[in-house]
Amino acid sequence: MNRPAAKSQIAGAECGQPAVHRRGLLLVLSSPSGAGKSTISRALLEQEDNLTLSISVTTRPKRPAETDGVHYHFIDKARFAELIEQDALLEHAEVFGNRYGTPRSEVEAALDQGRDVLFDIDWQGTQQIAGKLPNDLVRVFILPPSLEELEARLKRRAQDTDEEVRRRMSEAASEMSHWPEYDYILVNHDIDDSVAKVRAIVAAERLRRERQIGLTDFVDSLKPRG
Ligand code: 5GP
Repeated sequence: MNRPAAKSQIAGAECGQPAVHRRGLLLVLSSPSGAGKSTISRALLEQEDNLTLSISVTTRPKRPAETDGVHYHFIDKARFAELIEQDALLEHAEVFGNRYGTPRSEVEAALDQGRDVLFDIDWQGTQQIAGKLPNDLVRVFILPPSLEELEARLKRRAQDTDEEVRRRMSEAASEMSHWPEYDYILVNHDIDDSVAKVRAIVAAERLRRERQIGLTDFVDSLKPRG
């Protein structure tokens, strides 16, 4: 996935307004495979300056269209176990028989520097981050417009074998049962519309009082002097 370099975030500075420092946010997008999450993520990363993708580690074999270090860090099971042992993963889960995890250090640095981080992780990982960093988390769940459309999208993608498609269809129902654990739910009828909606969510969440950690200083500066 191509991503623009992240800038340290100073709210308002980009449109000539006074600077208010803020803490970054963790934007989680979850959905069953094939609901359009990857396409929405790619568009968000292209359109949002201050958003970087958290690149997970996984023991899943690399697909032909994927690049190591861009889509995932592909590692073996022994290395994955080592990372857990070292407490180097913010969360980890097993999905479709493969292990996936989020490297911790990059996420913590981004938050401190006011950079926002996008996660393409499942409900298990989302629950774990909610337990650790509840105030930084913004959870969005993407639903497909119908079961038929979901199956059609999985087949069109054709990155997986027929057996894999069948397995993912049967997992979709269980993944979708977790929608009530998310803050925002959107049905992906149209990619552009869905991207616009997620950007609206991000814009509003950036303005939350508790994220704007520089507000006290800023409001002090507005008080009449003398
Ligand atoms: P895929 O194999 O299609 O790339 O991903 C399968 C599932 O694993 C997707 O639902 C994806 O969101 C999830 N996933 C990818 N990376 C992570 C991760 O680091 N942690 C967790 N918990 N899930 C992940």
